[in-house]
Amino acid sequence: MGTKIKVIGQNQIGGCVVLISTGQSKICIDFGENLPGQQGKAKRAKINWNEEMVDAVFFTHYHGDHMGRFMEIPAHIPLYMGEAARQVRVNISRALHREDELAVLLDRDRVRCLKAGYTVEMGDIRVTPYLVDHSAYDAYMFLIETPDKRILHTGDFRNHGYRGKALFDVIDKYIVCYGRRPVDILITEGTMMSRMGEKVCSEAKLLGKARELFKDHRYVFLICSSTNLDSLASFYHAAASYGMGMYGNSYVYSQLKTFRETAGKATPFYDFKYAYEARFDFVLPGLGMTQEEFMRKKGFVAVIKGEPGYEKWIERFGDLNPVVVYSMWEGYVEPGNEAFDKGLYDFVEKYHGICMHTSGHAPAEVIGEVIRRVCPREAVIPIHMENGLLFDIAKFPAV
Ligand SMILES: [Zn+2]
Ligand SMILES: [Zn+2]
Repeated sequence: MGTKIKVIGQNQIGGCVVLISTGQSKICIDFGENLPGQQGKAKRAKINWNEEMVDAVFFTHYHGDHMGRFMEIPAHIPLYMGEAARQVRVNISRALHREDELAVLLDRDRVRCLKAGYTVEMGDIRVTPYLVDHSAYDAYMFLIETPDKRILHTGDFRNHGYRGKALFDVIDKYIVCYGRRPVDILITEGTMMSRMGEKVCSEAKLLGKARELFKDHRYVFLICSSTNLDSLASFYHAAASYGMGMYGNSYVYSQLKTFRETAGKATPFYDFKYAYEARFDFVLPGLGMTQEEFMRKKGFVAVIKGEPGYEKWIERFGDLNPVVVYSMWEGYVEPGNEAFDKGLYDFVEKYHGICMHTSGHAPAEVIGEVIRRVCPREAVIPIHMENGLLFDIAKFPAV
């Protein structure tokens, strides 16, 4: 029996699940929730775990649309994810007091670590993860080898972040080995294919824009995902260049600490040395002033959510005319968009939020270049996109 590929929720952004099986083994890649705004349109993947007999689930990265439903997976099935990805999920579950999730995530027998370049064997299926650049840290693409097929699953990816330069190198050197090891089937994300109008700015450019803004504004409240390592690093470095530190509640700080202890070990760029837990009344040892007094003196970037609870934070520094920066997907604050979030929109409007963001996904021409370099012998299976069935390689503009 040859290799079989089953895609659930192919034609939607988020919540896509891929099952790959041989006569002997079966693996599942990702098992997440549908993204906001997809309700009604998107299918919630249904898997009958008893019937499917899955040997292991591999998670490309920690975003909710890829990992959000891990608790539904029966306890006998091992879960594979990056070690930093596991820690990021632990921080989330801790903040939400989800003891049941913590029991799973902290179980080393159940959750097994992926390491870039190290192959995991599941019967006759071999899975080799390679790091990719995405708005999540510790994200992977998977090369899946069965007795009769070589399959590349890209996961979510881009190449305009700080870690994006390696994308084509990894494909050329390790996946296709300069054309010597052909891939049969390419499963690629295509988010930006359905958001063609969106401009993509690099993380480096985002840093530049933030630095420009902070020149005149030293008191900044930042609405940004606390798991978006690269964008946090962009704002962190823009702030650091003026001696401003980064602050967040205990949850945000736990994520920054995780990034410091993982990505920060590889490069000081991610060490978040001047990141602190916000405790405004805390008297700083040796300085004889409170944290708030220090923040007022030096300036700051405080990572917040666009929720009423944070109005107190902004009002506390109201006399300093702070600015609010919105650094998340624009669709959430775009009236009429299916993912429109009224509460968030009102919050951003109230404080005249400035939009400054870069996408976690590769634009069409980069997806096109990935297809050209991988040059799959049999098929391209687009997932994580709308109108995937209209996917036409010929439409990709050349890089
Ligand atoms: Zn996704
Ligand atoms: Zn993602």
